[in-house]
Amino acid sequence: MVPEEPCQCPDCQRFYREHDRLIRECPTLRHQQELNWAALQSFRTLSGRVLEDLQKQYGSQGNDAANTEATPVGGGEEPADEIQQSIADLENINAHLFSIEALMERIFDVKVPEAVEQKFRELAGELAPDPLNADRLRLNRLLHQTPDLPDRS
Ligand SMILES: [Zn+2]
Repeated sequence: MVPEEPCQCPDCQRFYREHDRLIRECPTLRHQQELNWAALQSFRTLSGRVLEDLQKQYGSQGNDAANTEATPVGGGEEPADEIQQSIADLENINAHLFSIEALMERIFDVKVPEAVEQKFRELAGELAPDPLNADRLRLNRLLHQTPDLPDRS
């Protein structure tokens, strides 16, 4: 079976760039733990707050009395079904984020010795080298000038 070429559409390319940047900027286990914890918490904070506001404004699903008194967004015709669906979706998201947090806590309990963190840094440099790094640019030029360069490993 021929290995599939990675997709090169703009969305995927943006993803690869972001993926590599996160490896480059957070090249240790500690960094990755902090990064992912912050990402999860910011997601929870923002979507939780939006949900709270929507519930206040439109009432939660089990609260139909509040719904009839609800003020439409912007005073115009806001499709109430769409808002109610969004409230239900956000409630689901928040429940999932809560479960993910419980799982992540276990991942974040782990600490590794400096030697292992060094291994993380090493491999991060290989997986996502700084594209603008001068050494990298020089190495690339070198590799392209000598196609029969023996395998480095
Ligand atoms: Zn794609």
